[in-house]
Amino acid sequence: MPYAYDDQNIFAKILRGEIPNKTVAESDHTLAFADINPAAPVHVLVIPKGAYVCFDHFAAEASDAEIADFHRVAARICVELGVSPGDGKAGYRTISNAGADAVQEVPHYHMHIVGGRPLGQMLQKPA
Ligand code: AMP
Repeated sequence: MPYAYDDQNIFAKILRGEIPNKTVAESDHTLAFADINPAAPVHVLVIPKGAYVCFDHFAAEASDAEIADFHRVAARICVELGVSPGDGKAGYRTISNAGADAVQEVPHYHMHIVGGRPLGQMLQKPA
């Protein structure tokens, strides 16, 4: 399946340094920064530096090094921000929206890490 990457999306602009961000972590292949409109006390976005539209695009086409780096950086943030259950903390949720049904706003793959408060059930069932 072809993925059309729009290099004018906001995260591409952040990666090019055209828009500021509050960086939480950075590595060779990955950038993590504070969400501009946080839904919880901890709300970080983790993005690959490569041009991937969504999770399945990233997982299918990124190199093993990019995929490993992305997840290592994300995991380290969970510990460093004090939400990892492995560290005896209260936990967090990772979310990755893809496409229209998930209301993906920015078409550059990103993982939300949210925590710092009870987050409730994952999804509401339709009424
Ligand atoms: P999604 O709906 O999964 O595509 O989420 C996009 C997220 O990007 C939202 O939570 C926005 O608050 C966040 N966002 C949009 N623009 C920026 C920005 N310039 N800096 C940080 N976060 C942003």
